[in-house]
Amino acid sequence: MKITNALRAFELTTRPIHPESRAALDKRWNELPPHAQTDNQLLGRSAVGCEGTHGVFPKCDLTCSPCYHAADANKVRIDGNHTVDGVTEQMEYLRRIRGPRAHAQLIGGEVSLLPAADHAAALTAMRAHGREPMSMTHGDFDYQYLLDVVLDDTGRRRFNKVSFAAHFDSLMRGRRGAVRPHTEAELNPFREKFARMFVDLKRDHGVTSYLAHNMTVTPSNVAQVGSVTRDVLEMPYDMMSFQPAAFIGDDRRWKEDFDAVTVDAVWERIEEGAGQKLPWQAAQFGDPRCNRTTVGLRAGGVFAPLLDPDEPKDIAARDRFLNHFGGMVFGDVPAHILTVKIIRALGAHPGDIPPLLGLVHRVLGRAGGVRGVLRAARAGRLGFKTFVVHSFMDASDVAPAWELMQRGVVGTDAKTIETQERLGSCMYAMSHPGDDRLVPACVQHSVLDPIENIGLRALLPIIGTATGTALGAEAGIVARPSGLTAVRQTQARQRPAQ
Ligand code: SF4
Repeated sequence: MKITNALRAFELTTRPIHPESRAALDKRWNELPPHAQTDNQLLGRSAVGCEGTHGVFPKCDLTCSPCYHAADANKVRIDGNHTVDGVTEQMEYLRRIRGPRAHAQLIGGEVSLLPAADHAAALTAMRAHGREPMSMTHGDFDYQYLLDVVLDDTGRRRFNKVSFAAHFDSLMRGRRGAVRPHTEAELNPFREKFARMFVDLKRDHGVTSYLAHNMTVTPSNVAQVGSVTRDVLEMPYDMMSFQPAAFIGDDRRWKEDFDAVTVDAVWERIEEGAGQKLPWQAAQFGDPRCNRTTVGLRAGGVFAPLLDPDEPKDIAARDRFLNHFGGMVFGDVPAHILTVKIIRALGAHPGDIPPLLGLVHRVLGRAGGVRGVLRAARAGRLGFKTFVVHSFMDASDVAPAWELMQRGVVGTDAKTIETQERLGSCMYAMSHPGDDRLVPACVQHSVLDPIENIGLRALLPIIGTATGTALGAEAGIVARPSGLTAVRQTQARQRPAQ
């Protein structure tokens, strides 16, 4: 009996695609609006999409224009117990609904305001539920804080790998040493210093990392996207992500005509900085009006996209991969398990081997051939890079479109239809276990954050202020040390009729 159970467990562990992943992917695909069910769509075929936390640490100590946090976010106290309880509750739900594996952002206010031990506990809770966590930060913290997150009290590693996304742009105010930057270039030493901490972390403690560089783009800094791309490409970041600003969050920070910056305009500047075209059409996460992305191998100064949309053999290899390997988990899997998984997957589809090897050959060719790649590796200039543009929607469009969606009503005007299509194919979800639902991040920031913050101010008032107590009494909330249940009572009362 024991042997039978062990064999069953081994079979499941080494199965190329976990059955719960398969079910979550199929569900996601079936729920996508028809316009998003395209050949290049990754949602529902290789990924369920990204996830993010909410309401677990709203406070931030920098100011940005725009800021997507609710206007009252800084009136909520940081509380590690609340954070870890809330993260755990949200991750449990995501694990149940979206299967055993996904990427999730530890996001809200500024993550480094959390005591390091609580930050580490939140990451541990995310990993325990099969989430690959990424901590979202302004990057203004010291190496010692990073060490305190990554290492325990005895100096032992808590994690073998960490992921951080650092937000750097000249729209931010209050960074130590660059309180009021006038240009993007002024921030380069800070970008470099942040990334170097992770190089040191690997050297000193063997902990590897995945680093993203985030930049909000408005009319005032769009012209500098090219130079930021050029400069950051030479730094040890794995991803460069740009977000054209939207009218969402704290309206006191809406200072420009954000509509003047389009996804196309930002992408052109990124290409200008990269010094070449960056083809993205071969793969799509969600709706193209929300996201644009491309992944490639950068060897020396050359970026070789993994997929060339104009090369039919690349597209054929993509289709084989998505049809037969989509949903396979490659990261964080022990080498011997991964090897068996790959052997089983290829054994089931041996005809895929030549096209996939052909793809590898073409990527190496685009990157300068084997010699060029080896030369770049010797010079320390070889690695995968990902470019992303993610474009949130305005709160004034999201709120009415979502309200209609909750009632099953399809909009009739072009803007509402577009907004509903984008929300329906959202690739960035937030978890509401108490309501048994996931919501798009646009909805979270446009509709739910302000309501959630009223409850959070009462639950976690800044110590010594009377406001929290008064709010709590007004809302009928009894503060407890942690968790989001009490906050949800407020939400339930204030949510528009559905
Ligand atoms: S969060 Fe908003 S902009 Fe982003 S993918 Fe979802 S609907 Fe689109």
